[in-house]
Amino acid sequence: MRVGIDLGTTYCAIAYVDPKNGQAKVIRNSEGSPVTPSVLYFDPNGAVLHGEEAKSYLEEGSERTVNYFKYHMGDDTYSIFQNGREYTATDLSAELLKGIVREAEDAVGENIYEAVITVPAYFDHFRRQATMEAGQKAGLQVLSIISEPTAAVFAYGIHGKGTNQTVLVYDLGGGTFDVTIARITDDEIEVLGTDGDHQLGGKDWDDALANYLTDQFEEEFGIDITEDVEMNIMLQAIAEKTKKQLSERPRSKPTITYEGHKGAYEVTQEKFEEITAYNLNRTKDIIEKLLGELGMVWGQIDGVLLVGGSTRMKQVKDYLTEMCGRPPMQGVNVDEAVALGAAIRANIDLEGNVVEEAARPMMIGGTVPATKPSFAIAGAKKIKDATAHSMGMIAVNKEETAYVNSIMVKKNSSIPTQVTKPYELGISRHEENRLEVYMLQGEEEALTYPLNCIVLGKYVFTGIESSGGRTEKINVTFAYDENNIVQVSAIQERTGRELSLHIEPVEEDMSWVLENPRERQRAASGQPDMCVLLAVDLSGSMAGEGLEEAQKAAVSFVEQFDLAYTQIGLINFSDRCVLYQPLCRDRNLLIRKIRAWKINDNGLGYGNSAEPFNLANSTLAGCRQDVRYLVVLTDGYWSNAGEAIRRAQKCHQEGIEVIALGFAGAKESFLDAIASRKDFASFTDVSELETALTGIAKIM
Ligand code: AMP
Repeated sequence: MRVGIDLGTTYCAIAYVDPKNGQAKVIRNSEGSPVTPSVLYFDPNGAVLHGEEAKSYLEEGSERTVNYFKYHMGDDTYSIFQNGREYTATDLSAELLKGIVREAEDAVGENIYEAVITVPAYFDHFRRQATMEAGQKAGLQVLSIISEPTAAVFAYGIHGKGTNQTVLVYDLGGGTFDVTIARITDDEIEVLGTDGDHQLGGKDWDDALANYLTDQFEEEFGIDITEDVEMNIMLQAIAEKTKKQLSERPRSKPTITYEGHKGAYEVTQEKFEEITAYNLNRTKDIIEKLLGELGMVWGQIDGVLLVGGSTRMKQVKDYLTEMCGRPPMQGVNVDEAVALGAAIRANIDLEGNVVEEAARPMMIGGTVPATKPSFAIAGAKKIKDATAHSMGMIAVNKEETAYVNSIMVKKNSSIPTQVTKPYELGISRHEENRLEVYMLQGEEEALTYPLNCIVLGKYVFTGIESSGGRTEKINVTFAYDENNIVQVSAIQERTGRELSLHIEPVEEDMSWVLENPRERQRAASGQPDMCVLLAVDLSGSMAGEGLEEAQKAAVSFVEQFDLAYTQIGLINFSDRCVLYQPLCRDRNLLIRKIRAWKINDNGLGYGNSAEPFNLANSTLAGCRQDVRYLVVLTDGYWSNAGEAIRRAQKCHQEGIEVIALGFAGAKESFLDAIASRKDFASFTDVSELETALTGIAKIM
């Protein structure tokens, strides 16, 4: 059998679709209740109890109990120890799932194999994955993880009232708040947007009330009861009970007994509203923010759908009635809605068609044959869900001056979806090349430290092939599936090959995001900078095509280098020789300068009596021996060729690699003489200049 499970922070519920009539129904627990407390008790004999039984131990203040573990789903750093074993939040959820599934199996007399489990809409990738794992650990095949409000909208659809409406789902549970705006048409539920706060729920109302009661007690008896752990647990229970009473009646008078003192304090609905107003206002702000992001106003909301036990509070209903202009929709039990919706989802595919169940062994023996569904599900619709957060990765900005959050999938995008962005990776010749993708969840592009976004993971890609160039283009893809789980992949553009991926732990100290990326890369590489001077002949004979092609070639040349590791400077010569641009790392500046080249600029003259070697020698003097290059581009014979060759040889002796590229009237024997090695001299046609010069950049 397939079920839908609402795995709530404080309560859970489990439902199935009755094949007799296609109606979703909640399976009551052994005590006849539709909801079961999300509490575990670790019995000293090793058994794990759940639900009401565990909750009664909790209320007695037993330290063998655990609750609110849903807060910690997906958090590797959280775990508890009970009965000599460590339990993560996933393990605890698995124990709870096992417990409620076992109970449900007993109630219906059938084995439960498959489930759709719900999570808050804002649950990120890792929390959803942890929820899926919890289901698997409990022995279930998890068909899908869906958002609670989406499930609730399904449940609402069961009653057939939901066509062509825009609804706001206000979901306030025990520990979480979610708001979702969805459009419901005849055959589709489209989630337009969602937001929430996973640290806000009924518990915050309990806490505020508990504080109020403690203050009253202290005022009367001068005793601070918050110091006492057991008393605190009891106080929580008293506050929750009082809160629930105030949903039904205008006043309540809880009593607190401690160390022989007994205080009774009347709390009216108004007082309760007053001391908890802050919490309600937080939900209001989140709704206004979401409406703003979607460019909507309250007037466009046809109805409000309530989900979660805390929506029973009078002030919640009053506020929503005032804003919407009509009371929240009726007909769906707020505790059951999510589980009912999940049960429907468990029986249909993404298109809204009812799917058949595979053959299964029966609990009492024998086999249940594969069933072609004989029922139609009322309210079955196609789902178009949306992402709750923007998802990006750390990248270097265009100016290469800062690390930024490069957003890949924007918040409230329809899923499934996938986005690919190119990433330029600096290639090292000395080490294995790896692309580190830090997956970020957050809305702002600028990064701060402490981080203003959450780092969800560090995905490391290896197997990058180098073609000898300085950089390689890698296309990184983020793909959301319909469970809102993200897969990251990367393909090297040149080879078309998918790179191998492994996940590494995220560093605790991420303060490097504030550093200058170039400086950081250089420091990390431990490599000395390469210094490259490009000396270009701007004599009169270059006018026209020669100059144009030389400019094109020089721009391509500059683009080949990763300027984190290389400084480039420009020399122009004719009858004079000028350091047109000192060594720098500013690609844009270099390109601007190249594009501004003119014959006889800076009084260069038109002839060819100057040579660039002396100037190159002094300019490169500060750079390290083995990484100094002078690339000379010329179109003709130089009038002081002998002197030029002597000075070129001086460069060779100094360890400067001279590469010579000639075209048009340049003489090959001269090129050979000025180049530091025979294979560093070449002659080409003017039309091939760009190819030749980029080729040189690649071998450097
Ligand atoms: P859920 O996680 O949706 O099961 O919601 C549980 C939360 O709803 C808990 O904080 C309960 O205290 C709260 N709750 C349940 N019933 C009521 C009620 N009648 N009035 C106010 N809060 C309630």
